[in-house]
Amino acid sequence: AESRIANFGAGPSALPESVLVEAAKGLLNFNGTGIGIAEISHRSKEFGAYIKETANLIREQLDVPSTHEVLFMQGGGTGQFSAVVLNLLARHRLLHPDLPEHDRILDYVLTGSWSKAAYTEAMRLAHGATVRIAADSRAHSADGKSFDGLPPHSGFTFSPNPALIYYCENETVSGTQFAGEEGTPTSFPFHLLPTDAGLLPLVGDYSSSFMSRPIPRLADHAIIYAGAQKNLGPAGATILIVRKDCIVDVDAAAKIGGAPVPISLAYRPYAANDSMPNTPSVLAIYISGLVLKRNKALGGVRYYEEFNRRKKEKVYEVLKEGEARGVFKSKVREGEGSWMNIVFGVLGDGAEARFLEGAELRGMKGLKGHRSVGGIRVSLYNAVTEEWTDQLVAYMRDFIAEQS
Ligand code: PMP
Repeated sequence: AESRIANFGAGPSALPESVLVEAAKGLLNFNGTGIGIAEISHRSKEFGAYIKETANLIREQLDVPSTHEVLFMQGGGTGQFSAVVLNLLARHRLLHPDLPEHDRILDYVLTGSWSKAAYTEAMRLAHGATVRIAADSRAHSADGKSFDGLPPHSGFTFSPNPALIYYCENETVSGTQFAGEEGTPTSFPFHLLPTDAGLLPLVGDYSSSFMSRPIPRLADHAIIYAGAQKNLGPAGATILIVRKDCIVDVDAAAKIGGAPVPISLAYRPYAANDSMPNTPSVLAIYISGLVLKRNKALGGVRYYEEFNRRKKEKVYEVLKEGEARGVFKSKVREGEGSWMNIVFGVLGDGAEARFLEGAELRGMKGLKGHRSVGGIRVSLYNAVTEEWTDQLVAYMRDFIAEQS
């Protein structure tokens, strides 16, 4: 539609226009039922089939093995900051009932404000267990306090038998991502994980990169989670890929130690009831399902990997030109930046405001950086088209020419 503009927002973010047109029909009449999707019972056979189909689309597109369940929950990424701690501590208690609570170790990799927020929540909920830092990118930054890159592999130390190992694959605010090929310095160091601790309790926050490319070593994860509101659909649905040994009886675990787990955060009732122990986020799941069907027709995550690679390469290239001319300044070390969220400053008094105003005049919005780091943030999620990207790159080039 003509009134729509290029939306580079960080989340909630753009959705494919064709999906929105179809969703509008579903709002009036879902799959021929005569009832709209926001009005129909989640216990109807039509929605029951739909939620299973949507979970299967995720399974298919990410090659999720039969060792793992695909679940839908609510509460967003923040809900999972709590849930992963509660469920995995419960698992550890059942596996090692005689261990003193302070010997249950939660290992956190800190690379930005989102992993830091998850770490802070773990400290609130640890209940006697020990929360430790397995790596911190700030220790390797130029000023000793910024999340401006990834920790080097030599900066990681993991505990031998942890209850949880946590990392955020894509830091939406600071703009770093473990995006390198496995084994290279910008990949997650899977080779450093403990090898004699049985099935590893490895948790990956994929909130802002889910479905943007294949997930490296998916099968080696205990839990991968993501809020839908970046690459997949509207806010309200949280997607989980959980290995079956992490779906435990939290009440049996509470008899050993810790506090009872709120039932809305325990994984087992979701796994036992097709993600519907209670009312799920019906509308958000519906629209996510439409996006997944469209993805499949286009070629799935391998298609998006190439598509997103092209987009980010164009933006990083012009950013580098702007740096050479003293107009832009990246907030992330070269080669360690995210494919999804590119963050940089515009040098000079009032230049940032001018950049944003100029972008808006040309029909581009959502470029203002997060309030905690300032500057510009370009989010290039799946629904951001190549045309929008080219439009932004052309504008950045004009801006460089004008300023220098
Ligand atoms: N993790 C990451 C990487 C995020 O980008 C966000 C939100 N932008 C969150 C967690 C928190 O998610 P929510 O707002 O759904 O609680």
